[in-house]
Amino acid sequence: MTNDSTRAVHAGLPPAAQGEPILPGPALAAPFHVRGDPAGAPFGYTREGNPTFALYEEALGALEGGRAVAFGSGMAALAAVLLVHLRPGDTLVAPSDGYPVLRTIADSTLRPNGVDVRLVPTEDEAILAALEGARLVMLESPANPGLDVCDIRRVADAAHEHGALVGVDNTLATPLGQDVLALGADLSVVSGTKALTGHGDILIGHVAAREEELIEGMYEWRSATGAIPGPFEAWIAHRSLATLALRLGRQCANAHAIAEALAADPRASTVRYPGLPQDPAHETAARQMRAFGPLVGFVLPGRSEAEAFLEA
Ligand SMILES: *Cc1c(COP(=O)(O)O)cnc(C)c1O
Repeated sequence: MTNDSTRAVHAGLPPAAQGEPILPGPALAAPFHVRGDPAGAPFGYTREGNPTFALYEEALGALEGGRAVAFGSGMAALAAVLLVHLRPGDTLVAPSDGYPVLRTIADSTLRPNGVDVRLVPTEDEAILAALEGARLVMLESPANPGLDVCDIRRVADAAHEHGALVGVDNTLATPLGQDVLALGADLSVVSGTKALTGHGDILIGHVAAREEELIEGMYEWRSATGAIPGPFEAWIAHRSLATLALRLGRQCANAHAIAEALAADPRASTVRYPGLPQDPAHETAARQMRAFGPLVGFVLPGRSEAEAFLEA
C-alpha cells in the first residue's frame, strides 16, 4: 500500500505557500465576507460550502477517483442519495443484509411516499433478478455485518442496462480497499465515521461520483437541508486521512489473523472474512478488493460464550 500511503498523505493539501500551514486549520465560520455579486464569492455561508469542506472533498475526490461531497454522517450521505433520486412510483433495490438503517429509511419514508422497495440479499443472482424497472440499486459489498459480497462490475453493468443508477456503500473497505467508481458504480457512499477516519471521535460521511450532474444534485440537497459536517469534524477527518493506508493495512492484517485463529477454533462457527481462501465471498472479493477490510464475523454457541468473549 506504499502508493496508497503517499496518495492519502498528500490528498487535498493546498499548493505549498511560504509560511502557510501544510493543512490549513478549520474555518469555524457560519457567514463569510461577501462584496458585490455573491455569485462571485467562493464562500458565503457554511451551509452552502466552507473552505475546510472544500479541501476535505478534494482529498476524498483524489482517493475515490471522482468528485466528492461531504455530509454530516454516513446516514446523511445515504439519505441524500435515496431522497434525491427516488420519486413516488420509483423502485429501489437495496440489501436485506446490509447496514440496517437504510431499511429504517425505507420503512419510515420511502414506502409511505410510494417508493417500491425491493430488499435482496447481497448475492449476484438475487440482485440481478430484482433489477426490472429499478430506478436506483444500492449495493453494500462486503455487507455489514453478514460479510457477503457481490460482483460489483457485473451487477452494475446489468443495472445500467435496466436504466438504473448504482450506488455502493463502501464504508467497510474504504476507497483505498475497493475502488467502486472504477468498478462501475455511479455513486460511492461512505460513512467516514468508521475505518476512513478511524478514531471513533467524529461522525462524517460523503458521496463520490464522476458525473458532474450527480455531484451537483448532492450539493443542492446538502445546501438546502443543512446535512453538512461541522468544519471542525471535516478538518479532523482530513487530518486522519494521512494515516488511512497505515491503519487500514494493519486493521486488515489483524482481521485476517483473527479470522484464521477463529477458523481453527472449534468454539467458533460460521467464521466469515472475505480474505480467507475458504470463505464463500473470497473469489469475488479477491477480484474486486485491494484490501479485505477490518470486519470479521463469527458465531459463538450462546449468549454466555458471547459475553465471556467480549469480557475477555
Ligand atoms: C456506520 C455505517 C453507516 C452509517 O454511518 P454513520 O456515520 O453512523 O451515519 C452506513 N453504512 C455502513 C456500512 C456503516 O457501517
